[in-house]
Amino acid sequence: MAGTRVRRLLRALAVVLPAALVVPAPAASAADFSPGSAGLGDPYFPLAGNGGYDVAHYSLVFSYQPATRQFDGTATITATATQNLSRFDLDLRGFDVDRLTVNGAAASYTRAGQELVITPAAGLTAGALFTVVVGYAGIPSVVTDPDGSIEGWVPTDDGAFVVGEPQGSPAWYPANDNPRDKATYEFTATVPAGITVMANGVLDSRTTTGGRTTWVWRATSPMAPYLATATLGRFDLTETTAPGGIPAYVAVDPTLSTGNVLRKLPDIVDFYASIYGPYPFEAVGAIVDDAPDVGYSLETQTKPVFDRMPDEATLAHELSHMWYGDSVTLTEWPDIWLHEGFATWSEWIWSEHTGRKSAHNYFKTLYNTPAQDTAFWTPPPGDPGSPEFLFNGTIYNRGGMTLQALREKIGDGAFFGIMRRWATAHRHGNVTTPQFIALAEQVSGMQLDHFFDVWLYQPDKPTSW
Ligand SMILES: [Zn+2]
Repeated sequence: MAGTRVRRLLRALAVVLPAALVVPAPAASAADFSPGSAGLGDPYFPLAGNGGYDVAHYSLVFSYQPATRQFDGTATITATATQNLSRFDLDLRGFDVDRLTVNGAAASYTRAGQELVITPAAGLTAGALFTVVVGYAGIPSVVTDPDGSIEGWVPTDDGAFVVGEPQGSPAWYPANDNPRDKATYEFTATVPAGITVMANGVLDSRTTTGGRTTWVWRATSPMAPYLATATLGRFDLTETTAPGGIPAYVAVDPTLSTGNVLRKLPDIVDFYASIYGPYPFEAVGAIVDDAPDVGYSLETQTKPVFDRMPDEATLAHELSHMWYGDSVTLTEWPDIWLHEGFATWSEWIWSEHTGRKSAHNYFKTLYNTPAQDTAFWTPPPGDPGSPEFLFNGTIYNRGGMTLQALREKIGDGAFFGIMRRWATAHRHGNVTTPQFIALAEQVSGMQLDHFFDVWLYQPDKPTSW
């Protein structure tokens, strides 16, 4: 729209101004605008994310009624076109869309599976900032993944457990659902009074009127869409200040016995900051829900979410993901070992640091698994082979072992240097395995092709490296 208006103005000016003063408008005809692609071509989730634009900010305003599961939302998305766009997609699963505007003008749209296909009234020029508003309502969905696990908006007895890895976020908000498109977020969630909403970032306000409470959270660091949460229900919320002065939010479902594990959170974060570099986000914390049917915890940014009271290793695992996974994020899903191998090794180094079992001994115990146990050794961590195996045990175990084997091959000095540089050089960015291998070779001064091939890509138990 804006582009068209400017061109009309220039034509009007041409009547009264000398021709030399008039900057010719770029000749943009309808033929110069084309649709953005329906996906970004991820090997496992080709339709996740969309082509032709880059999101800067999501403002998600919604209300939710746990009793009826009714969700009413308005998403305002600010993005920059990266090509001349005649049409573009957002990812959204289910819901009725009742309003859709682009730059304030009604836009037409169609639905095709997870694609919300939007045709703005006028083409969007490459480089232009634009705003999409989507009004949507309905019952948010639970997504079943290729490995059979559930994600998305998972109802609990008192609210919902909200997790989006790898493809659940469009179950509750329209997104460019690809880890490459990080953005900032604001969440404004209205729920019955007594219900706590735990979203990412810093708690800006909570206001109760007429039996309803509105929670406003701001996530000011770039975040991949799958790391967003708005887990809600009855929670005891403790707000403190973590070392370094950032706010810490720990929410625990009151039906769970608390134990002592959550008291270790500041020490764990401090320890990882000491070896991986400064904590990368504006807030820290944990959301501990009673949702055992989910069967896993997730490193939702700034506040990992747990389906039950975690043990210390699980708490350490998820907190380490703030560096490896959330701040330093894979570019494509087959590189998932860059998250899970790193978080598994992080469990071991925390154990070693606290004087318990060493990372070397974790490695040794696992390495004793016989080569004939192919379910333990295959698929190799660098090549899961199919989305069904994204979160297979080998990605975690062999991934962690890869790092410990690297540590023992190149020595602690080079190894910890690599871990720190990986986290700081790619802070808030996206990475690939070849980049990690190149960094390891650069810092160690060693040729490591054979090492990484054996550990990451060969299906058999590594025997020499
Ligand atoms: Zn993990």
